[in-house]
Amino acid sequence: MSQTITVQHGDARAQLEEGATAIQALKALEAVRGQIVAARVTTPDGASLQWDLDREVPDGAQVAPIPADSEEGRAILRHSVAHVMAQAVTDLFPGAKWAIGPPVEDGFYYDFDVERPFTASDLERIEARMKELLKEKQSFVREEVTREQALEEFADQPYKREIIELVDEGTIVSNVDAGPGEGEAGDGPPTFTVYRNVRPDGSVAWSDLCRGPHVPGTDRVPAFTLLRSAGAYWRGREDQPMLQRIYGTAWESRKALKQHLTMLEEAKKRDHRKLGRELELVHFPEELGPGLSLFLPHGALVRKQMEDWIRDETLRRGYQPVYTPHVAKEDLWQLSGHLENYAELMFPGMEVEGAAYRLKPMNCPFHIMAFTSRTRSYRELPIRISELGTVYRYERSGVVNGMLRARGFTQDDSHIFCRQDQVVDEVAGCVEFARDLYRAFGLGEPSRVAISTRPEKSIAGHDDKWKAAEQALIDAVAKTGLAYEIDEGEGAFYGPKIDIHARDAIGREWQLTTVQVDFNLPERFDISYVGEDGAKHRPFMVHRALFGSIERFFAVMLESFNGAFPTWLAPVQAVVVPVAPDFDGYATEVADRLREVGARVEVDVADETLGNKIRRAQTSKVPYALVVGGDEAEAGTVAVRPYQGSQRKDVAVGEFSKELAAEIATR
Ligand SMILES: [Zn+2]
Ligand SMILES: [Zn+2]
Repeated sequence: MSQTITVQHGDARAQLEEGATAIQALKALEAVRGQIVAARVTTPDGASLQWDLDREVPDGAQVAPIPADSEEGRAILRHSVAHVMAQAVTDLFPGAKWAIGPPVEDGFYYDFDVERPFTASDLERIEARMKELLKEKQSFVREEVTREQALEEFADQPYKREIIELVDEGTIVSNVDAGPGEGEAGDGPPTFTVYRNVRPDGSVAWSDLCRGPHVPGTDRVPAFTLLRSAGAYWRGREDQPMLQRIYGTAWESRKALKQHLTMLEEAKKRDHRKLGRELELVHFPEELGPGLSLFLPHGALVRKQMEDWIRDETLRRGYQPVYTPHVAKEDLWQLSGHLENYAELMFPGMEVEGAAYRLKPMNCPFHIMAFTSRTRSYRELPIRISELGTVYRYERSGVVNGMLRARGFTQDDSHIFCRQDQVVDEVAGCVEFARDLYRAFGLGEPSRVAISTRPEKSIAGHDDKWKAAEQALIDAVAKTGLAYEIDEGEGAFYGPKIDIHARDAIGREWQLTTVQVDFNLPERFDISYVGEDGAKHRPFMVHRALFGSIERFFAVMLESFNGAFPTWLAPVQAVVVPVAPDFDGYATEVADRLREVGARVEVDVADETLGNKIRRAQTSKVPYALVVGGDEAEAGTVAVRPYQGSQRKDVAVGEFSKELAAEIATR
């Protein structure tokens, strides 16, 4: 008689024969809803793993479905399509070596070592071949192999062999492209997994070293397309071979794919570098170097509103401002551990009078120095240090992306030092603050709040503190009433964190705010406060940046608003347009009256046709164009042409200035 196993989904339990698969378990548990691509299995010893639907489940496992239309499900689908793409490339380009093919945000890629870069017509051929392969109804079949078997199977694939060696030394190149086996830790050598694409007649079409999971078969790919190709260094390092990367995307339905492609088109039109240039907001001169930019006067006016808002609000909420330098001696970065853990992202050192200095990649050590400038008492806590701190990070020129990923940027950075009993309120305060900020800047409610917990490799000890901090983050978010998700094991090595995302006008999600607990720096700097008992205690330290980076948030807003900022943020809020030079005087008078209520106003006195001037007001996306001629000058009125909305004639200047002032005050 065969053995039976027990599986669970929440409170539901089912008995199955030994050897039952995840899909059989989900069906027995009546847990299948809609399309699913894989399962999440929590083993009796607590490991939570993505699982192929046709893979055997262990006794006592919790089994949950991964829906096709979830972010997790899409990543699995996209990565599965990457296998099909690599198979097509292998067919069409004999001798191609393949490296890694992980899912990325909204898509996937695979890197190949081929004789020449791919052309547009190559991509068409590859896509056509992929469609043929999808029709073959190949299954993805998982097989566990030893290290030696894997090395032998991929003898002519140098990148796969290198991945195996990297796994040996504990480096994972991508979390799907191979990792040590699960559950066998301790006994014998690590196992690897190979996934084979098997045709219905049992013949193997292609195999890859991969951690999985994948969709069950190629008939489970509803919609995909290839997007572009580009050169990419193996492992992102300039001293390594240049590979050819093909990007694609895949979705759970044709409709979802179509929506995504429409969004990509729209995003291209709104690119912040393009809009920034057209609207004369920001400038990326080559002389500065990649990832460095400047705000032109109109961009600077928008930025000033952002800075004023955050400065006013931090003061109102009991933060204490500081100013700190951009460089400091290496001694500081030694003490903070940045040279040990973060050196790759720092600009190289410079020597001054025999001492080595570094540009700052973070503000934290300076804020700690502000805290430790004198003895602190428990009565003073929480202490919230804040600064608009400009930092410099050495991002590779290949990944620099305008203001979205820059080498120099300014954080609205704060560090909160508090007692354990204050952590929940402090963190909840940060989340509420972020929420108010998104509302004020037109991004609505946060679209996603993710709490990341302790990773496998983390700072030693502090077990109680980790538990307390994770629970504090959960309690804090719960207190705000926002929904949240838990990203198991995704925290930093030095503490758990909360990431807050917002959705822009074309549906893209941006991670903006981070609230991070830190057990490492307080230790390294040996910071303390004097408790009620007269003894020294270690405070909790929370890092938080709400905009994140001012430059990045500016770029996100610019793209989301498509350059048409809300009136309170717009660099020029109204432009007065005289119909002829005779009325320049009256136009100036109108502008002065509006400036009296604090509005930013310009007068267009160019010697051009009225049509041209009105078009210019329109293309520069100024919220209000005010047209004035003889009738208006006589009656003391303006004709109002808003950028959005309908035109109005004969509006008294006093009335319009009141309306404008009220609109600006709504910030
Ligand atoms: Zn794979
Ligand atoms: Zn920090």
